[in-house]
Amino acid sequence: MTKYLIVGAGLFGATFAYEAAKKGHEVKVIERRNHIAGNIFTKEVNGIQVHQYGAHIFHTSNKRVWDYVNQFAEFNRYTNSPIANYHGEIYNLPFNMNTFNKLWGVVTPEEAQAKIDEQKSILKGKRPENLEEQAISLVGTDIYEKLIKGYTEKQWGRSTKDLPAFIIRRLPVRLTYDNNYFNDDYQGIPVGGYTQIVEKMLASDLITVETGVDFFDKKDEYLKEFDRIIFTGMIDEYFNYSLGELEYRSLKFETEKLDVDNYQGNAVVNYTDAETPFTRIIEHKHFEFGKGDKNKTVITREYPKTWKRGDEPYYPVNNTENNTLYKQYKELADREAKNVLFGGRLGQYRYYDMDQVISAALNVVKTEIGD
Ligand code: FAD
Ligand code: UDP
Repeated sequence: MTKYLIVGAGLFGATFAYEAAKKGHEVKVIERRNHIAGNIFTKEVNGIQVHQYGAHIFHTSNKRVWDYVNQFAEFNRYTNSPIANYHGEIYNLPFNMNTFNKLWGVVTPEEAQAKIDEQKSILKGKRPENLEEQAISLVGTDIYEKLIKGYTEKQWGRSTKDLPAFIIRRLPVRLTYDNNYFNDDYQGIPVGGYTQIVEKMLASDLITVETGVDFFDKKDEYLKEFDRIIFTGMIDEYFNYSLGELEYRSLKFETEKLDVDNYQGNAVVNYTDAETPFTRIIEHKHFEFGKGDKNKTVITREYPKTWKRGDEPYYPVNNTENNTLYKQYKELADREAKNVLFGGRLGQYRYYDMDQVISAALNVVKTEIGD
């Protein structure tokens, strides 16, 4: 049997721990924060599951992952349909016939497509090379100006000209009247929150969990004591930033309890202008229908900020420069950290969604431990 140390009690670490223990391996999980579940941590306040680190909607087209996660919780039928507030004007997201109708008065898909074609002609058929060009080529200049530019530049702290196109391709564009933010086959929110999923994953007698423990306080001892280490923190921090810092985006969450039943009428409202300092407000009770105390609600404003050492690194910034540096760290890891496996959003420096994290962890289990 192998003695595993897992650094980080987020979804990647917990999935690996669960599978390793199921196969009889002894696992110790250490977590720097004072709670498990990483960024999917949820906590009950007034009968409402509060998503402590921003809105988390589970969505996937991977049936294996969907069945897998359903072992640990029952999912409701929540369908994410955020709205955009641009200086008080309300638009449906993602970009669909409801958005186009409100903006341009067009009624048919053909009229909408004609409008987009007319506006994207400023690109003169050029292949989009950055987020701005990609956005204009998908939805035209009006939507780019009102619903994308301000939001994106706040979120990423840089010009849309200096951002990779793939970020905006995360959002569907549809010529149907369909406000579902995702195209995936399966979607929902776990009834009773996300933390229970990780709790159940870590429940085995073969797993010990210590929170409030930083790997770097005893790195050398851990390396000696354990056969294998699964590291889900930042790969550049692991190597003491020896090749330079990778770039991350951080966030400040401002959570408020209000004595009203329904503050904004939707779980997620994006503020897409450049002037409002936050990107979105979540009203947590709307993720679970009819739950929570009457006349109480909890909202969270999300403010993006530049990451510096000591902040939580929520998003990798996957532009060419950072991806190149990550590759160098990966090569260093392959050379010098043979007993360490780097996984998850931070270990692999990838803008992973939850389903991709589970899938990646299961793949690592397969190569590391076998079926
Ligand atoms: P994490 O959850 O970050 O876990 C890593 C853990 O390692 C952390 O708890 C950290 O404290 C710990 N750690 C790091 N360094 C050390 C150390 N030195 N010692 C000990 N512990 C350490 N995905 C979706 O599918 N749908 C969504 O709607 C969605 N919304 C999101 C919204 C926001 C604002 C953010 C930031 C992410 C969102 N995601 C969403 C992505 C989702 O959060 C991630 O895919 C998933 O949580 C990543 O899991 P992980 O285990 O890789 O990382
Ligand atoms: N985006 C935007 N306007 C919106 C919502 C999203 O321009 O109202 C852009 C923005 O660049 C963002 C990207 O689309 O970073 C991906 O959005 P998503 O909702 O997937 O972001 P996440 O939930 O990962 O923060």
